[in-house]
Amino acid sequence: MIWSTKETLDREEIQLIQTEKLKKTVKYAYEHVPFYQEKFRTAGIVPEDIQTLSDLTKIPFTTKEDFRNHYPFGLFAVPKEKIVRYHASSGTTGNPTVVGYTKHDLKVWKECIARIVSMAGVTYHDTAQIAFGYGLFTGALGLHQGLEKIGAAVVPMSSGNSNKQIKIMKDWGVTTLIATPSYALHLSEVAQSLGIDPVEDLKVRHGVLGSEPSTEAMRKKLNQNWGMHAYENYGMSELGGPGVSGECPALRGMHINEDYFICEVIDPVTGEVLPEGEKGELVVTPLFRQATPVLRYRTKDITSLDSSPCACGRTTMRMSKITGRTDDMLIISGVNVFPSQIEEVLLSTEGIGSNYLITVSKKGYLDKMDIDVEVTDSSLLDSASSLDNLLNVLRKKLHTVLGIHPSIHLVEPLSMEASKGKAVRVIDKRNSEEK
Ligand SMILES: [Zn+2]
Repeated sequence: MIWSTKETLDREEIQLIQTEKLKKTVKYAYEHVPFYQEKFRTAGIVPEDIQTLSDLTKIPFTTKEDFRNHYPFGLFAVPKEKIVRYHASSGTTGNPTVVGYTKHDLKVWKECIARIVSMAGVTYHDTAQIAFGYGLFTGALGLHQGLEKIGAAVVPMSSGNSNKQIKIMKDWGVTTLIATPSYALHLSEVAQSLGIDPVEDLKVRHGVLGSEPSTEAMRKKLNQNWGMHAYENYGMSELGGPGVSGECPALRGMHINEDYFICEVIDPVTGEVLPEGEKGELVVTPLFRQATPVLRYRTKDITSLDSSPCACGRTTMRMSKITGRTDDMLIISGVNVFPSQIEEVLLSTEGIGSNYLITVSKKGYLDKMDIDVEVTDSSLLDSASSLDNLLNVLRKKLHTVLGIHPSIHLVEPLSMEASKGKAVRVIDKRNSEEK
């Protein structure tokens, strides 16, 4: 179902709305945030220089470092009295990035999520279990309020306690799962280990998944394991959380809520805006935020844009699935490798489970990559010939895709630590080993 008439406007109408809102957003950020006054002065521009969508390129980028350097409230545009909620990204490296919400910001957020869960086929008939961690992280509460807005029944489980997750799904007739793709896959394997077949014994048919990039192979496996339709959506705490875009049943990219976000794709090295269809780094300007307005935020996520008509009837621009991040590309002996390429191979190989870890280290002067991955059936590890076969298949596939020869270690099912939130898939030991 299409939630809002704003999703089916003519392209000209959408651009008109964006232009008007952009002018207001730029003026607002300039007048309320000293950081933007300084940025504009350095760039030699004033808000009046921004009159059309193409003028956007005159504005300098905002980065995660800008948030960190102004921790906690330096980028806020309103006094504390106007703030009704705070969220923040994980601060695993340095200060967390803090965002605030006014009542208006929360209202818009709910609207954006209502559209995205509707795209995934969720309605007021559904019961949605949220297996994202509640707390400062934007995922859980963001989805929570949007689901309530459309009238779905929310089960605020939070992450972890997997056995109980399965029990509640079964006993309460849960139809919709909200989680990271990796945790959703883990939960299906936990159910199977408890003797519950999610397809036969559970009613979970919609997956609204996000907060980490995943592959088509991952989707296929999720759909198979759960008997569900898995849909991805996109957002980021600095942009206010999930709600930027989501997939429709046509599965040809994620529709952007364009009346609230302007998306650009740039060359990550030169900063130049790339033509529609080309892959590069996503840059987003939210068009509504009162508490923490952000202009041209560099997401470091790699995607491309597509404004061609979609079978679902929506006219909004789509962004392709995130294929990686500009900062997670690994250079192994001079070869560029994205972890997503490895995941694609692992998940499309019969007998290989969903949990894996890539470790990169140095052996002398050479780079070395090790991949630990679970098998789906422990009896595979008992038979030398089936183990050899499986290893050979994997080695060949990985070499074809990556052009390198990683060492592969197959381990028992469910023996590796499962992630409950964003999965840690790569450990790069090279920097710490260097003098
Ligand atoms: Zn569509």
